[in-house]
Amino acid sequence: MSFLDNLIANTIRADVRAEKGYHVPDASGYIKLDAMENPYELPRELRRELGERLAEVVINRYPLASYATLKERVCARMGVPEGFDVLLGNGSDELISIIDTALARQDRRAVVLAPYPSFVMFERSARLTGMDFVSVPVKEDFTLDMPAMLAAIAEHKPVVVYLAYPNNPTGNLPDDADVVRIAEAQGEHGLLVVDEAYQPFARKSFMGRLPQHPNMIVMRTLSKLGLAGIRLGYMSAAPELLAQFEKVRPPYNVNVLTQAAAEFALDHVGVLDEQAARLNEERTRLQRELSALPGVQVFPSAANFLLVRVPDADKTVDKLLADRVLIKNLSKMGKLLSGCIRVTVSTPEENSVFLNALKASLS
Ligand SMILES: *Cc1c(COP(=O)(O)O)cnc(C)c1O
Repeated sequence: MSFLDNLIANTIRADVRAEKGYHVPDASGYIKLDAMENPYELPRELRRELGERLAEVVINRYPLASYATLKERVCARMGVPEGFDVLLGNGSDELISIIDTALARQDRRAVVLAPYPSFVMFERSARLTGMDFVSVPVKEDFTLDMPAMLAAIAEHKPVVVYLAYPNNPTGNLPDDADVVRIAEAQGEHGLLVVDEAYQPFARKSFMGRLPQHPNMIVMRTLSKLGLAGIRLGYMSAAPELLAQFEKVRPPYNVNVLTQAAAEFALDHVGVLDEQAARLNEERTRLQRELSALPGVQVFPSAANFLLVRVPDADKTVDKLLADRVLIKNLSKMGKLLSGCIRVTVSTPEENSVFLNALKASLS
């Protein structure tokens, strides 16, 4: 054992040493349909204007700690209820870790609960903050298994339940009544985080219903709307609750360039909404063309991606890779997802390259 091996064994937590880390494949030269990015850029004229705006940003000073102007824009444009504020994060990934950091107790291990399959960061953040993670399998059609969810909540008393609305990687939107029942089951002993990363495509939200659900947090991101590169997430909840999480947030977690770019984008959010509408049309076309293929099953999606079951996922993924198309192979993630791949909806041209490669892999 070298000095560094010993040093690491003596210092880094055993569970961290055992972690594999979050692997992101190098995508240069590939059609990238694996990360739910918006394939469209801002129109050239807007990009030029944004460049001018960014040139004026004061980068030798720390950000203004209140983030008042950006928060006002977010509240005004994103349907945040009257009297409610937002907490900003470096992507919603950071919001998840802020929430978990505030909830991870030192006197006993707290439990985080989420359906399975769901967004991988729910589990990762829970483990890294030293909490126990309990997952409840969804039904075969990927809808929530409500009796199992409610039984698990009663048994494990999770300090927080995470629900992605719509869910990633399945794409379906949980029933509103089920979301409300989970919030009620949590009561005053636990929170419910409704992760609305795909709200621009689902066009449904619990944001306006926050005043009726004091234990609910609604979390969103600009990533899937078309600004994945700037890393901005936001969440809203009862002001008293939000104030607690504010204490955990690193003071300058959102940088001034992100702040300026986000303000600019929110002033032109119509352009992004129009791109989302175009992607929704392409989702409908992809769904129709995929479901006509023999042996291929497409699941309902309210997001900018589709979950697709193919006869031989590994063969399909290999063919797609050979044609330089990156998608996510989920077929090794347990029985529920056997044969499944997840593909981001993109431009008509990129979707056609995907469709043709997938068709070729079926023969
Ligand atoms: C993509 C995704 C996020 C990540 O959002 P960032 O703001 O880019 O960190 C959060 N939640 C779900 C369910 C997602 O699919």
